[in-house]
Amino acid sequence: MSSLSFPRTVLVETTLRCPADCIFCPNKKITGRPVDMPWELFTKIVDECRGKGLVGFHPFINGEPLSSPYLEDALDYISRNLPEVAIHIYTNGYLLDESTTEMLLRYNVREVHFSIDGFSKQVYEQHRRGLVYEGVIDNVRGFLARLESHPEKVGTRVVLTMTPDNEDEVTDFRRFWKEQVDIVDILPCDGRGGEGRLPAFENAQKMGCFQVAECTYILSDGSVVACCKDWAGYTVLGNVTKDSLESIWNSSEYRNLRDDVSRGIFTNYEVCRRCVSDSL
Ligand code: SF4
Ligand code: SF4
Repeated sequence: MSSLSFPRTVLVETTLRCPADCIFCPNKKITGRPVDMPWELFTKIVDECRGKGLVGFHPFINGEPLSSPYLEDALDYISRNLPEVAIHIYTNGYLLDESTTEMLLRYNVREVHFSIDGFSKQVYEQHRRGLVYEGVIDNVRGFLARLESHPEKVGTRVVLTMTPDNEDEVTDFRRFWKEQVDIVDILPCDGRGGEGRLPAFENAQKMGCFQVAECTYILSDGSVVACCKDWAGYTVLGNVTKDSLESIWNSSEYRNLRDDVSRGIFTNYEVCRRCVSDSL
């Protein structure tokens, strides 16, 4: 099968910090790797992406990017060194005040995803433990209002991770947000953090597999994994502290994984075996 010689999108775990403790998130279970990716490692990754046709860079995997102590420096470094690349921010919105809004808009941020898992305060706070509904909604609406005077297009998306406890709010959620943002996404919860998996969600793997061919994921210690579901590093394909991202992406192990997953073969990789059997 033909395969890209470099990923089109790179996701980097700049930080594991997060003020929330969402029911479906493995963030608080992660041990054994740095809370913040070392700056030198971060810049090495960006440097390696120059001239490779990258289209997207996400400074985020298993943490809240606005909690990173060096987010502004990271956005500046990406914008200067990869000027053609769109930066995507996924945020819970809790820290998105006027100052952080202006900071994001100074750089090449081209899409912002807000994770909001309920329509009512009660259901939202049941899922996004530790966050306050009214504050988050005010922050998101403040950001959206600020965009109206921003000269460049910044795509916006709200995401509801659907669980047995919020699926009754999906209709109201869609109705509330559809006029305010570009995209309203409803994603079935895969329960990777231990709670919230939809019982009817039998094909968890199919929700994420399509990204494996084009995206790569680099954890805060430099480990390269193939899928956003691999929060624990079950199937590490290399480490960018030792080898280049390009050589890891083109290794036979990584190529075989992409090939197998594209054909629906999941048995050769621990993360995929866990994903299919609901034990992430
Ligand atoms: S889902 Fe996001 S906001 Fe929630 S605990 Fe995980 S990293 Fe934090
Ligand atoms: S862990 Fe494997 S099976 Fe699950 S979504 Fe990722 S690539 Fe697909």
